[in-house]
Amino acid sequence: MTHDTRYAFRDHRLFETPHAGAEGTLLFGADDASLFTIDDMTRAVLARWRDEPAIDLASVPEADREVLQALHDARLLVPAEHQRPPARAPYDPARIPLGTLVLEAAQACNLRCTYCYAGGGSYGGAARLMDPELSRRAARYLVESSGERENVTLVLFGGEPLLNLPAIEAAVVEAETAARERGKTVTVSMTTNGTRFTPEVLAFLRAHPISLSLSIDGPPDLHDANRRFAGSGAGTYEAIMAGLAELREHLQRPPAARVTLTPEQWQRAPEVFDHVAAMGFLEVGIAPVSPVNAKMLPTPEQERTLLEGFAQIAARFAQKAVVGELLPFSNLLDVLARLHVGQVKDVACGAGLGYLAIDSEGRFYLCHRMAGMDHFRVGDIDHGIDHAGIAERLAEQAAPRQDACSRCWARSLCAGGCHHDNHIREKDLGLQPGGMCDFIRGWLEICIRAYAQVRREADERLLAFLARRAQG
Ligand code: SF4
Ligand code: SF4
Repeated sequence: MTHDTRYAFRDHRLFETPHAGAEGTLLFGADDASLFTIDDMTRAVLARWRDEPAIDLASVPEADREVLQALHDARLLVPAEHQRPPARAPYDPARIPLGTLVLEAAQACNLRCTYCYAGGGSYGGAARLMDPELSRRAARYLVESSGERENVTLVLFGGEPLLNLPAIEAAVVEAETAARERGKTVTVSMTTNGTRFTPEVLAFLRAHPISLSLSIDGPPDLHDANRRFAGSGAGTYEAIMAGLAELREHLQRPPAARVTLTPEQWQRAPEVFDHVAAMGFLEVGIAPVSPVNAKMLPTPEQERTLLEGFAQIAARFAQKAVVGELLPFSNLLDVLARLHVGQVKDVACGAGLGYLAIDSEGRFYLCHRMAGMDHFRVGDIDHGIDHAGIAERLAEQAAPRQDACSRCWARSLCAGGCHHDNHIREKDLGLQPGGMCDFIRGWLEICIRAYAQVRREADERLLAFLARRAQG
Protein backbone atom coordinates (compact mmCIF):
# COMPACT_ATOMS: atom_id res chain seq x y z
CA MET A 1 0.00 0.00 0.00
CA THR A 2 1.25 3.47 -0.69
CA HIS A 3 0.41 6.79 0.94
CA ASP A 4 -0.32 8.54 -2.36
CA THR A 5 -3.11 6.09 -3.27
CA ARG A 6 -6.70 6.21 -1.97
CA TYR A 7 -8.18 2.84 -1.05
CA ALA A 8 -11.68 1.44 -0.77
CA PHE A 9 -13.20 -1.86 0.23
CA ARG A 10 -14.43 -4.23 -2.41
CA ASP A 11 -17.90 -5.61 -1.97
CA HIS A 12 -18.01 -8.09 0.90
CA ARG A 13 -20.38 -9.68 3.35
CA LEU A 14 -19.93 -10.47 7.03
CA PHE A 15 -21.43 -13.54 8.67
CA GLU A 16 -21.37 -13.76 12.43
CA THR A 17 -20.66 -17.17 13.93
CA PRO A 18 -21.21 -18.57 17.42
CA HIS A 19 -17.43 -18.84 17.85
CA ALA A 20 -15.56 -16.32 19.91
CA GLY A 21 -12.25 -14.57 19.28
CA ALA A 22 -10.25 -15.38 16.18
CA GLU A 23 -13.06 -17.36 14.52
CA GLY A 24 -15.84 -14.95 15.40
CA THR A 25 -16.79 -13.54 12.01
CA LEU A 26 -16.66 -14.78 8.45
CA LEU A 27 -15.67 -12.28 5.79
CA PHE A 28 -16.79 -13.22 2.28
CA GLY A 29 -15.37 -11.40 -0.74
CA ALA A 30 -18.26 -10.97 -3.19
CA ASP A 31 -16.13 -10.68 -6.33
CA ASP A 32 -13.66 -13.50 -5.66
CA ALA A 33 -15.80 -15.89 -3.58
CA SER A 34 -12.97 -15.63 -1.06
CA LEU A 35 -13.58 -16.47 2.59
CA PHE A 36 -11.69 -15.41 5.70
CA THR A 37 -12.28 -15.77 9.39
CA ILE A 38 -11.54 -12.55 11.23
CA ASP A 39 -11.05 -11.72 14.88
CA ASP A 40 -12.79 -9.03 16.89
CA MET A 41 -10.04 -6.47 16.30
CA THR A 42 -10.16 -6.86 12.53
CA ARG A 43 -13.93 -6.68 12.73
CA ALA A 44 -13.70 -3.38 14.60
CA VAL A 45 -11.21 -1.88 12.13
CA LEU A 46 -13.38 -3.01 9.24
CA ALA A 47 -16.43 -1.41 10.85
CA ARG A 48 -14.51 1.88 11.12
CA TRP A 49 -13.36 2.00 7.51
CA ARG A 50 -15.58 -0.17 5.33
CA ASP A 51 -17.95 2.63 4.26
CA GLU A 52 -15.23 5.14 3.41
CA PRO A 53 -15.29 5.81 -0.35
CA ALA A 54 -11.56 6.69 -0.43
CA ILE A 55 -9.29 5.93 2.52
CA ASP A 56 -6.28 8.17 2.89
CA LEU A 57 -3.66 6.06 4.67
CA ALA A 58 -2.00 9.10 6.15
CA SER A 59 -5.13 9.69 8.23
CA VAL A 60 -5.29 6.10 9.48
CA PRO A 61 -3.88 5.34 12.96
CA GLU A 62 -0.89 3.02 12.94
CA ALA A 63 -2.74 0.12 14.61
CA ASP A 64 -5.57 0.25 12.08
CA ARG A 65 -3.10 0.51 9.21
CA GLU A 66 -1.64 -2.91 9.99
CA VAL A 67 -5.05 -4.49 9.80
CA LEU A 68 -5.84 -2.62 6.60
CA GLN A 69 -2.58 -3.95 5.16
CA ALA A 70 -3.72 -7.51 5.88
CA LEU A 71 -7.08 -6.82 4.23
CA HIS A 72 -5.24 -5.34 1.27
CA ASP A 73 -3.14 -8.52 1.03
CA ALA A 74 -6.41 -10.46 1.02
CA ARG A 75 -7.52 -8.35 -1.99
CA LEU A 76 -10.43 -6.86 -0.10
CA LEU A 77 -8.97 -3.38 0.11
CA VAL A 78 -7.94 -2.03 -3.29
CA PRO A 79 -7.16 1.30 -4.92
CA ALA A 80 -10.48 3.17 -4.91
CA GLU A 81 -10.69 3.26 -8.69
CA HIS A 82 -10.67 -0.56 -8.72
CA GLN A 83 -13.35 -0.94 -6.09
CA ARG A 84 -15.81 -2.36 -8.59
CA PRO A 85 -14.40 -4.62 -11.30
CA PRO A 86 -15.35 -3.53 -14.82
CA ALA A 87 -18.39 -5.30 -16.29
CA ARG A 88 -17.28 -8.34 -18.24
CA ALA A 89 -18.14 -8.38 -21.96
CA PRO A 90 -20.56 -11.23 -22.74
CA TYR A 91 -18.86 -14.42 -23.86
CA ASP A 92 -18.92 -15.08 -27.59
CA PRO A 93 -20.53 -18.55 -27.92
CA ALA A 94 -18.76 -19.07 -31.26
CA ARG A 95 -15.41 -19.03 -29.48
CA ILE A 96 -16.34 -21.74 -27.01
CA PRO A 97 -16.06 -25.23 -28.47
CA LEU A 98 -18.72 -27.77 -27.74
CA GLY A 99 -17.86 -29.81 -24.63
CA THR A 100 -21.10 -31.42 -23.54
CA LEU A 101 -23.99 -32.66 -25.65
CA VAL A 102 -27.20 -33.93 -24.09
CA LEU A 103 -28.87 -36.48 -26.29
CA GLU A 104 -32.66 -36.51 -25.98
CA ALA A 105 -32.49 -40.11 -27.11
CA ALA A 106 -36.05 -40.99 -26.18
CA GLN A 107 -38.65 -38.25 -26.10
CA ALA A 108 -40.89 -40.76 -24.45
CA CYS A 109 -41.23 -42.16 -20.98
CA ASN A 110 -42.83 -45.12 -19.25
CA LEU A 111 -43.54 -42.89 -16.23
CA ARG A 112 -45.80 -39.87 -15.77
CA CYS A 113 -44.21 -37.90 -12.95
CA THR A 114 -46.50 -35.15 -11.74
CA TYR A 115 -43.78 -32.50 -11.89
CA CYS A 116 -42.23 -33.41 -15.24
CA TYR A 117 -41.05 -30.33 -17.14
CA ALA A 118 -40.88 -32.44 -20.30
CA GLY A 119 -44.62 -33.14 -20.50
CA GLY A 120 -44.36 -36.88 -19.92
CA GLY A 121 -40.95 -37.04 -21.57
CA SER A 122 -41.94 -35.93 -25.08
CA TYR A 123 -41.23 -32.18 -24.61
CA GLY A 124 -44.50 -31.49 -26.42
CA GLY A 125 -46.09 -33.41 -29.27
CA ALA A 126 -46.14 -37.16 -29.68
CA ALA A 127 -43.66 -39.50 -28.02
CA ARG A 128 -40.75 -40.33 -30.34
CA LEU A 129 -37.36 -42.02 -30.35
CA MET A 130 -34.13 -40.77 -31.85
CA ASP A 131 -32.98 -42.71 -34.87
CA PRO A 132 -29.70 -44.55 -34.09
CA GLU A 133 -28.15 -43.05 -37.20
CA LEU A 134 -28.88 -39.55 -35.86
CA SER A 135 -27.54 -40.37 -32.40
CA ARG A 136 -24.37 -41.71 -34.01
CA ARG A 137 -23.98 -38.48 -36.03
CA ALA A 138 -24.66 -36.40 -32.94
CA ALA A 139 -21.95 -38.18 -30.97
CA ARG A 140 -19.43 -37.62 -33.76
CA TYR A 141 -20.54 -34.01 -34.08
CA LEU A 142 -19.77 -33.50 -30.40
CA VAL A 143 -16.25 -34.83 -30.72
CA GLU A 144 -15.56 -32.98 -33.97
CA SER A 145 -16.86 -29.68 -32.60
CA SER A 146 -14.81 -29.84 -29.43
CA GLY A 147 -11.80 -27.84 -30.66
CA GLU A 148 -8.84 -28.10 -28.32
CA ARG A 149 -10.77 -29.77 -25.52
CA GLU A 150 -9.18 -33.00 -24.41
CA ASN A 151 -12.37 -34.41 -22.94
CA VAL A 152 -15.98 -34.29 -24.09
CA THR A 153 -19.11 -35.33 -22.22
CA LEU A 154 -22.03 -37.14 -23.77
CA VAL A 155 -25.18 -37.16 -21.66
CA LEU A 156 -27.80 -39.82 -22.40
CA PHE A 157 -31.12 -38.30 -21.52
CA GLY A 158 -34.83 -38.42 -22.20
CA GLY A 159 -37.70 -38.91 -21.33
CA GLU A 160 -36.28 -42.25 -20.39
CA PRO A 161 -33.15 -42.94 -22.46
CA LEU A 162 -33.31 -46.68 -21.80
CA LEU A 163 -36.46 -46.86 -23.94
CA ASN A 164 -34.10 -46.42 -26.88
CA LEU A 165 -31.15 -48.72 -26.29
CA PRO A 166 -30.19 -48.91 -30.01
CA ALA A 167 -29.74 -45.10 -30.20
CA ILE A 168 -27.77 -44.73 -26.99
CA GLU A 169 -25.57 -47.70 -27.82
CA ALA A 170 -24.85 -46.26 -31.27
CA ALA A 171 -23.99 -42.88 -29.72
CA VAL A 172 -21.68 -44.28 -27.07
CA VAL A 173 -19.77 -46.52 -29.48
CA GLU A 174 -19.40 -43.66 -31.98
CA ALA A 175 -18.29 -41.17 -29.32
CA GLU A 176 -15.69 -43.61 -28.03
CA THR A 177 -14.44 -44.29 -31.57
CA ALA A 178 -14.33 -40.63 -32.60
CA ALA A 179 -12.60 -39.62 -29.37
CA ARG A 180 -10.00 -42.36 -29.78
CA GLU A 181 -9.29 -41.24 -33.37
CA ARG A 182 -8.58 -37.72 -32.14
CA GLY A 183 -6.67 -38.61 -29.00
CA LYS A 184 -9.45 -37.32 -26.74
CA THR A 185 -11.39 -38.93 -23.94
CA VAL A 186 -15.14 -39.10 -23.60
CA THR A 187 -17.16 -39.16 -20.41
CA VAL A 188 -20.63 -40.64 -20.70
CA SER A 189 -23.37 -40.12 -18.17
CA MET A 190 -26.99 -41.14 -18.15
CA THR A 191 -30.03 -40.04 -16.18
CA THR A 192 -32.58 -42.81 -15.85
CA ASN A 193 -35.79 -43.50 -13.95
CA GLY A 194 -34.35 -46.84 -12.85
CA THR A 195 -37.17 -49.06 -14.08
CA ARG A 196 -35.57 -50.42 -17.26
CA PHE A 197 -32.52 -52.46 -16.29
CA THR A 198 -33.18 -55.34 -18.65
CA PRO A 199 -30.48 -57.98 -19.31
CA GLU A 200 -29.58 -56.12 -22.56
CA VAL A 201 -29.26 -52.82 -20.71
CA LEU A 202 -27.12 -54.38 -17.99
CA ALA A 203 -24.83 -55.91 -20.62
CA PHE A 204 -24.51 -52.47 -22.27
CA LEU A 205 -23.71 -50.84 -18.91
CA ARG A 206 -21.08 -53.48 -18.16
CA ALA A 207 -19.43 -52.87 -21.53
CA HIS A 208 -19.14 -49.08 -21.19
CA PRO A 209 -18.04 -46.93 -18.23
CA ILE A 210 -21.20 -44.85 -17.93
CA SER A 211 -21.91 -42.72 -14.85
CA LEU A 212 -25.50 -43.30 -13.85
CA SER A 213 -27.82 -40.88 -12.15
CA LEU A 214 -31.01 -42.45 -10.92
CA SER A 215 -34.15 -40.52 -10.04
CA ILE A 216 -35.55 -41.45 -6.66
CA ASP A 217 -37.53 -39.14 -4.41
CA GLY A 218 -37.15 -40.69 -0.95
CA PRO A 219 -39.28 -43.08 1.11
CA PRO A 220 -42.13 -44.88 -0.72
CA ASP A 221 -44.90 -42.47 0.25
CA LEU A 222 -42.99 -39.42 -1.01
CA HIS A 223 -41.57 -41.12 -4.07
CA ASP A 224 -44.84 -42.69 -5.17
CA ALA A 225 -46.76 -39.47 -4.66
CA ASN A 226 -45.15 -38.06 -7.80
CA ARG A 227 -43.29 -40.78 -9.69
CA ARG A 228 -45.85 -43.13 -11.17
CA PHE A 229 -46.09 -45.46 -14.13
CA ALA A 230 -47.88 -44.24 -17.24
CA GLY A 231 -51.04 -46.25 -17.78
CA SER A 232 -51.50 -47.99 -14.43
CA GLY A 233 -50.67 -44.90 -12.38
CA ALA A 234 -48.98 -47.17 -9.83
CA GLY A 235 -46.02 -45.89 -7.84
CA THR A 236 -42.55 -46.86 -9.05
CA TYR A 237 -40.66 -47.19 -5.76
CA GLU A 238 -40.68 -50.99 -5.72
CA ALA A 239 -39.62 -51.21 -9.36
CA ILE A 240 -36.69 -48.92 -8.59
CA MET A 241 -35.64 -51.02 -5.62
CA ALA A 242 -35.63 -54.05 -7.93
CA GLY A 243 -33.59 -52.05 -10.48
CA LEU A 244 -31.08 -51.03 -7.83
CA ALA A 245 -30.67 -54.64 -6.78
CA GLU A 246 -29.93 -55.55 -10.40
CA LEU A 247 -27.36 -52.78 -10.63
CA ARG A 248 -25.66 -53.90 -7.44
CA GLU A 249 -25.43 -57.42 -8.72
CA HIS A 250 -24.14 -56.57 -12.17
CA LEU A 251 -22.14 -53.34 -11.85
CA GLN A 252 -19.20 -52.41 -9.69
CA ARG A 253 -19.89 -48.71 -9.48
CA PRO A 254 -22.88 -47.28 -7.59
CA PRO A 255 -25.11 -44.70 -9.28
CA ALA A 256 -25.75 -41.19 -8.02
CA ALA A 257 -29.25 -40.31 -6.86
CA ARG A 258 -31.26 -37.40 -8.12
CA VAL A 259 -34.12 -36.42 -5.81
CA THR A 260 -36.86 -33.98 -6.80
CA LEU A 261 -39.15 -32.69 -4.08
CA THR A 262 -42.38 -30.75 -4.47
CA PRO A 263 -42.94 -27.90 -1.98
CA GLU A 264 -45.31 -29.82 0.33
CA GLN A 265 -42.51 -32.41 0.72
CA TRP A 266 -39.76 -29.96 1.60
CA GLN A 267 -40.23 -30.27 5.34
CA ARG A 268 -38.99 -33.85 5.06
CA ALA A 269 -35.73 -33.11 3.22
CA PRO A 270 -33.38 -34.47 5.97
CA GLU A 271 -35.37 -37.69 6.22
CA VAL A 272 -35.34 -38.04 2.42
CA PHE A 273 -31.61 -37.52 2.34
CA ASP A 274 -31.01 -40.17 5.03
CA HIS A 275 -33.31 -42.65 3.34
CA VAL A 276 -31.63 -42.33 -0.04
CA ALA A 277 -28.06 -42.05 1.23
CA ALA A 278 -28.53 -45.25 3.24
CA MET A 279 -29.02 -47.13 -0.03
CA GLY A 280 -25.37 -46.64 -0.88
CA PHE A 281 -25.64 -44.09 -3.67
CA LEU A 282 -22.40 -42.44 -4.66
CA GLU A 283 -23.96 -39.03 -4.06
CA VAL A 284 -27.41 -37.66 -3.38
CA GLY A 285 -28.60 -34.39 -4.93
CA ILE A 286 -31.89 -32.86 -3.84
CA ALA A 287 -33.59 -30.51 -6.29
CA PRO A 288 -36.53 -28.34 -5.35
CA VAL A 289 -38.97 -28.91 -8.20
CA SER A 290 -39.11 -26.40 -11.06
CA PRO A 291 -42.44 -24.59 -10.88
CA VAL A 292 -43.81 -26.03 -14.13
CA ASN A 293 -47.20 -24.71 -13.09
CA ALA A 294 -48.48 -22.32 -10.46
CA LYS A 295 -49.33 -25.22 -8.11
CA MET A 296 -45.62 -26.03 -7.83
CA LEU A 297 -44.72 -22.55 -6.60
CA PRO A 298 -43.56 -22.66 -3.00
CA THR A 299 -44.72 -20.36 -0.24
CA PRO A 300 -42.08 -18.39 1.70
CA GLU A 301 -42.77 -20.73 4.63
CA GLN A 302 -42.02 -23.78 2.48
CA GLU A 303 -38.79 -22.18 1.28
CA ARG A 304 -37.81 -21.48 4.87
CA THR A 305 -38.51 -25.10 5.82
CA LEU A 306 -36.37 -26.41 3.00
CA LEU A 307 -33.49 -24.15 4.00
CA GLU A 308 -33.80 -25.41 7.58
CA GLY A 309 -33.68 -28.97 6.31
CA PHE A 310 -30.65 -28.25 4.13
CA ALA A 311 -28.97 -26.53 7.08
CA GLN A 312 -29.52 -29.67 9.18
CA ILE A 313 -27.93 -31.86 6.52
CA ALA A 314 -25.06 -29.39 6.13
CA ALA A 315 -24.46 -29.38 9.90
CA ARG A 316 -24.27 -33.17 9.89
CA PHE A 317 -21.95 -33.01 6.88
CA ALA A 318 -19.56 -30.78 8.83
CA GLN A 319 -19.71 -33.00 11.94
CA LYS A 320 -18.87 -36.07 9.91
CA ALA A 321 -16.16 -34.28 7.96
CA VAL A 322 -14.38 -33.58 11.24
CA VAL A 323 -14.07 -37.30 11.91
CA GLY A 324 -13.00 -38.05 8.34
CA GLU A 325 -16.35 -39.22 6.96
CA LEU A 326 -18.01 -37.91 3.83
CA LEU A 327 -21.75 -37.38 3.76
CA PRO A 328 -22.54 -37.61 0.03
CA PHE A 329 -24.75 -34.50 -0.25
CA SER A 330 -23.94 -33.30 -3.75
CA ASN A 331 -25.74 -29.94 -3.45
CA LEU A 332 -23.30 -29.01 -0.71
CA LEU A 333 -20.25 -30.69 -2.21
CA ASP A 334 -20.67 -28.68 -5.42
CA VAL A 335 -20.49 -25.35 -3.59
CA LEU A 336 -17.84 -26.41 -1.06
CA ALA A 337 -15.57 -27.52 -3.87
CA ARG A 338 -15.90 -24.15 -5.57
CA LEU A 339 -15.31 -22.26 -2.33
CA HIS A 340 -12.28 -24.38 -1.59
CA VAL A 341 -10.50 -23.46 -4.81
CA GLY A 342 -12.01 -19.96 -5.13
CA GLN A 343 -13.80 -20.86 -8.34
CA VAL A 344 -15.90 -17.90 -9.41
CA LYS A 345 -19.03 -18.25 -11.52
CA ASP A 346 -19.36 -15.55 -14.12
CA VAL A 347 -22.18 -17.29 -15.97
CA ALA A 348 -25.04 -19.12 -14.34
CA CYS A 349 -24.34 -22.37 -16.16
CA GLY A 350 -22.80 -23.67 -19.35
CA ALA A 351 -26.05 -23.64 -21.36
CA GLY A 352 -25.17 -22.47 -24.87
CA LEU A 353 -21.55 -21.96 -23.85
CA GLY A 354 -20.07 -25.34 -24.69
CA TYR A 355 -23.19 -27.16 -23.49
CA LEU A 356 -26.14 -27.98 -25.76
CA ALA A 357 -28.96 -30.48 -26.09
CA ILE A 358 -30.04 -32.21 -29.28
CA ASP A 359 -33.56 -33.55 -29.74
CA SER A 360 -34.79 -36.60 -31.62
CA GLU A 361 -35.08 -34.54 -34.84
CA GLY A 362 -31.51 -33.27 -34.65
CA ARG A 363 -32.37 -29.76 -33.44
CA PHE A 364 -30.07 -28.02 -30.95
CA TYR A 365 -31.38 -26.30 -27.84
CA LEU A 366 -29.72 -24.13 -25.24
CA CYS A 367 -30.12 -26.88 -22.66
CA HIS A 368 -31.85 -30.20 -22.12
CA ARG A 369 -34.79 -28.68 -20.27
CA MET A 370 -35.49 -26.36 -23.18
CA ALA A 371 -35.84 -29.08 -25.81
CA GLY A 372 -39.03 -28.49 -27.77
CA MET A 373 -39.15 -24.77 -26.85
CA ASP A 374 -38.82 -23.05 -30.22
CA HIS A 375 -37.56 -19.88 -28.62
CA PHE A 376 -34.49 -21.72 -27.34
CA ARG A 377 -33.77 -23.63 -30.52
CA VAL A 378 -30.25 -22.79 -31.68
CA GLY A 379 -29.50 -24.57 -34.94
CA ASP A 380 -29.52 -28.19 -36.00
CA ILE A 381 -27.11 -30.90 -36.90
CA ASP A 382 -27.42 -30.30 -40.67
CA HIS A 383 -26.77 -26.56 -40.56
CA GLY A 384 -24.66 -26.29 -37.42
CA ILE A 385 -24.94 -24.36 -34.18
CA ASP A 386 -26.59 -20.94 -34.35
CA HIS A 387 -24.08 -19.02 -32.25
CA ALA A 388 -25.74 -15.66 -32.88
CA GLY A 389 -29.02 -17.14 -31.67
CA ILE A 390 -27.32 -18.41 -28.50
CA ALA A 391 -25.84 -14.97 -27.81
CA GLU A 392 -29.27 -13.37 -28.25
CA ARG A 393 -31.03 -15.85 -25.97
CA LEU A 394 -28.39 -15.54 -23.26
CA ALA A 395 -28.51 -11.73 -23.41
CA GLU A 396 -32.29 -11.87 -23.11
CA GLN A 397 -32.04 -14.17 -20.11
CA ALA A 398 -29.49 -12.00 -18.34
CA ALA A 399 -31.16 -8.62 -18.97
CA PRO A 400 -33.95 -8.67 -16.33
CA ARG A 401 -31.58 -9.50 -13.45
CA GLN A 402 -28.28 -7.98 -14.58
CA ASP A 403 -28.51 -4.98 -12.31
CA ALA A 404 -29.62 -6.95 -9.22
CA CYS A 405 -26.95 -9.62 -9.81
CA SER A 406 -24.20 -7.02 -10.17
CA ARG A 407 -25.05 -5.74 -6.67
CA CYS A 408 -25.74 -9.11 -5.02
CA TRP A 409 -23.21 -10.47 -2.54
CA ALA A 410 -23.80 -14.02 -3.86
CA ARG A 411 -23.04 -13.22 -7.51
CA SER A 412 -19.73 -15.10 -7.68
CA LEU A 413 -21.45 -18.31 -6.54
CA CYS A 414 -24.79 -17.90 -8.35
CA ALA A 415 -24.43 -15.62 -11.39
CA GLY A 416 -28.12 -15.48 -12.17
CA GLY A 417 -29.71 -18.88 -11.51
CA CYS A 418 -31.10 -21.45 -13.91
CA HIS A 419 -32.27 -19.96 -17.24
CA HIS A 420 -35.03 -22.53 -17.51
CA ASP A 421 -36.42 -21.84 -14.05
CA ASN A 422 -36.18 -18.09 -14.62
CA HIS A 423 -37.97 -18.43 -17.94
CA ILE A 424 -40.90 -20.40 -16.61
CA ARG A 425 -41.26 -18.19 -13.54
CA GLU A 426 -41.07 -14.94 -15.45
CA LYS A 427 -42.56 -15.74 -18.87
CA ASP A 428 -44.98 -18.60 -18.15
CA LEU A 429 -46.12 -17.62 -14.66
CA GLY A 430 -45.65 -13.86 -15.05
CA LEU A 431 -43.63 -13.43 -11.86
CA GLN A 432 -41.16 -10.65 -11.17
CA PRO A 433 -37.44 -11.49 -11.69
CA GLY A 434 -35.59 -12.34 -8.51
CA GLY A 435 -38.26 -14.43 -6.81
CA MET A 436 -35.76 -17.19 -6.00
CA CYS A 437 -32.97 -14.92 -4.84
CA ASP A 438 -33.61 -14.99 -1.09
CA PHE A 439 -33.71 -18.77 -1.23
CA ILE A 440 -30.49 -18.92 -3.29
CA ARG A 441 -28.70 -16.56 -0.92
CA GLY A 442 -29.99 -18.46 2.11
CA TRP A 443 -28.62 -21.68 0.68
CA LEU A 444 -25.26 -20.16 -0.20
CA GLU A 445 -24.92 -18.75 3.31
CA ILE A 446 -25.46 -22.28 4.67
CA CYS A 447 -22.69 -23.51 2.36
CA ILE A 448 -20.31 -20.73 3.38
CA ARG A 449 -20.79 -21.47 7.06
CA ALA A 450 -20.35 -25.19 6.50
CA TYR A 451 -17.21 -24.60 4.48
CA ALA A 452 -15.69 -22.41 7.19
CA GLN A 453 -16.18 -25.21 9.70
CA VAL A 454 -14.90 -27.90 7.34
CA ARG A 455 -11.81 -25.88 6.51
CA ARG A 456 -11.12 -25.25 10.16
CA GLU A 457 -11.69 -28.74 11.48
CA ALA A 458 -11.82 -31.35 8.72
CA ASP A 459 -9.31 -33.90 7.69
CA GLU A 460 -6.83 -32.89 4.94
CA ARG A 461 -8.11 -35.75 2.80
CA LEU A 462 -11.54 -34.21 2.61
CA LEU A 463 -10.10 -30.88 1.52
CA ALA A 464 -8.04 -32.68 -1.12
CA PHE A 465 -11.24 -34.38 -2.28
CA LEU A 466 -12.93 -30.96 -2.63
CA ALA A 467 -10.01 -29.69 -4.69
CA ARG A 468 -10.23 -32.69 -7.04
CA ARG A 469 -13.96 -32.33 -7.33
CA ALA A 470 -13.65 -28.67 -8.31
CA GLN A 471 -11.38 -29.67 -11.15
CA GLY A 472 -14.14 -31.95 -12.45
S1 SF4 B 1 -29.19 -14.58 -5.90
FE1 SF4 B 1 -30.39 -13.46 -7.42
S2 SF4 B 1 -29.48 -11.39 -7.57
FE2 SF4 B 1 -28.01 -12.79 -6.53
S3 SF4 B 1 -26.66 -13.51 -8.21
FE3 SF4 B 1 -28.31 -15.04 -7.90
S4 SF4 B 1 -29.93 -14.46 -9.39
FE4 SF4 B 1 -28.52 -12.70 -9.15
S1 SF4 C 1 -30.48 -23.63 -17.86
FE1 SF4 C 1 -30.86 -24.60 -15.87
S2 SF4 C 1 -31.25 -26.79 -16.31
FE2 SF4 C 1 -30.30 -25.86 -18.11
S3 SF4 C 1 -28.10 -26.27 -17.89
FE3 SF4 C 1 -28.50 -24.23 -17.03
S4 SF4 C 1 -28.87 -24.59 -14.83
FE4 SF4 C 1 -29.07 -26.57 -15.89
